[in-house]
Amino acid sequence: MITSKAQATRLVHLVEDAGYARAAETAPAIPPRLHLKNATVDFGNRQWPAVENASLAIGAGEFIALLGPSGCGKSTLLNVFAGFQVPTSGDVFLDGEPQRGPSAKCGVVFQKHSLFPWRSVLENVAFGPRRLGLPNPLGIARDLLETVGLSDVASAWPSSLSGGMQQRVGIARALATRPPVLLMDEPFGALDAQTRALMQEELLSIWDRLRPTVVFVTHDIEEAIFLADRVVVMQTRPGRIAREFDVPFARPRTTGIMDEPAFIELRREIADIIRAEARKSFR
Ligand code: ADP
Ligand code: MG
Repeated sequence: MITSKAQATRLVHLVEDAGYARAAETAPAIPPRLHLKNATVDFGNRQWPAVENASLAIGAGEFIALLGPSGCGKSTLLNVFAGFQVPTSGDVFLDGEPQRGPSAKCGVVFQKHSLFPWRSVLENVAFGPRRLGLPNPLGIARDLLETVGLSDVASAWPSSLSGGMQQRVGIARALATRPPVLLMDEPFGALDAQTRALMQEELLSIWDRLRPTVVFVTHDIEEAIFLADRVVVMQTRPGRIAREFDVPFARPRTTGIMDEPAFIELRREIADIIRAEARKSFR
């Protein structure tokens, strides 16, 4: 029996404490931002599926590189994350929700820019926010063009820009709706080596400012290690996730890390796997 106010208060605290403890015990862990579970994609046109039994959990704000030889299923896997491709079996979740179709939570950048040629750079970037009905789409677009260093070409046509600039507009456009996830399919693959190196540094600085979760597809080992927190190496025939490597280098990174022994060692280890894979599929 409760005989005093002090006792009553203590009891309330006990109950509350117990409640908190229970809540903590049963609180679900935060789901990964992207979660692929045993995903297989079979187009039915080969003896092997394009992607077989792939599982991958990607945390919020993580930068993942998906690396592997041509034809190993990188784009297919990216399309699964984007919701463009439904897996034949298995599941993909975005923030714990099944990904059932293209989602506004994912910004996508392809190798070849997909800007509207009949719209100015500014209008291209404002397109997504406008379509989603966000307030002040032009203001959002101007901010992002500043973030990617292209304020001075806001009124230009995409066709008047260099390849590197077009890809930067593409990145700005993909980020304009502030999606938590940025999916990039060999976005710098068509650029010359110098522009590509500049774009890699530019991307890291954009990522550092906005911290989206990034899945970056590439077949370039150095690019993968330089950019990512984790390199996921794929193998071919069928496309599978072969190995994952944590990249130990601190951020912010500069191209100087490419000369460090640890970088060279990691590059060699990954190259050995990819070479063995390439040989396998050559036979
Ligand atoms: P990557 O991006 O690693 O080069 P892809 O994901 O594009 O590889 O392709 C993986 C395999 O799936 C390849 O054998 C390719 O021919 C096949 N493939 C990809 N997309 C389709 C499709 N829409 N229909 C049929 N086959 C496809
Ligand atoms: Mg591809």
